[in-house]
Amino acid sequence: MKRHKAALWLLLASTLVAISCSPGTNEGQRRSAKAPIIDMHLHAFGFDEYGYPAPPNEVTGNAPTFDSDEAAMRGAFDALRRAGIVRAVASGPREHVDRWREAAPAWILGGAYTGSRDPLPSIEELRQRVDAGSVSVLGELGLQYLGLSADSPELEPYWDLAEALDLPVAVHTGLGDTGTPYDCCPKFRARLGNPLLLEDVLIRHPRLRLYIMHAGYPFLQDVKALLTIYPQVYADLAVINWALPREEFHSYVRALVDAGFADRLMFGSDQMVWPEAIALGIEGIESASFLSGEQKRDIFYNNAARFLKLTAEEIELDHAGAR
Ligand SMILES: [Zn+2]
Repeated sequence: MKRHKAALWLLLASTLVAISCSPGTNEGQRRSAKAPIIDMHLHAFGFDEYGYPAPPNEVTGNAPTFDSDEAAMRGAFDALRRAGIVRAVASGPREHVDRWREAAPAWILGGAYTGSRDPLPSIEELRQRVDAGSVSVLGELGLQYLGLSADSPELEPYWDLAEALDLPVAVHTGLGDTGTPYDCCPKFRARLGNPLLLEDVLIRHPRLRLYIMHAGYPFLQDVKALLTIYPQVYADLAVINWALPREEFHSYVRALVDAGFADRLMFGSDQMVWPEAIALGIEGIESASFLSGEQKRDIFYNNAARFLKLTAEEIELDHAGAR
């Protein structure tokens, strides 16, 4: 605990120095000069999202010690900075997304989140948040956790709005925790994670800018079908890059790369309350010996930059390291 507090003070002190040295600087502009990475999938949650004390990370066994929302956010920011992440799509309950955005507006892209405990925002609220710049992505949409199929009629107004505003859409697809319908989410069904449920949505909304989160794992054949027929669809590799057995993750990514989709896969961490997930997710991709250096750069940055329609100036800034 003592060491944790000392680290926090150091972080606060460095924040104050950075602010006083460079007016207008924010968290995202004080990052490392590593090759830039975009994290298309993480979460702005409260420190007690899964209870306090937080449960240990199922992979590392480490339990986070954050005892406030502020500490949890700073812990996440620190991990992002160490990893060279220059932009991150953060979704979660509105209060937490707004708090993260306020602390680091150039770094954090707000995501309109829905999950088992978070219903969809109203269309009006969503439109207001997009207009205000606090939401840049419609997602993570955890429709599967709500027992909703992606092609449900009640979602039509959301697809209409996203298409009209050219708002990127991020849909949770594929997996959930073992036993999910028995504990947190009685309406959850494995079959609702199938990304092909998005097909009719893509037919009705051909201009929708959409990515499937978790790359639809483990629905490999269906993901291949979707990406083949609909060239506008991208996929993120979040959580599967650190929570799956490494060989299983590699064989999944390899199958997608061999099928010709290396230019549509994007890095995501799905960091929730365990900041170490960010470095672990990066390592999952770095350790894939079948990927060329160029393919890794595409997955870590270039594909997301294209999907997000970053300007040449934004891309240049991202590569400049500390601004
Ligand atoms: Zn998800």
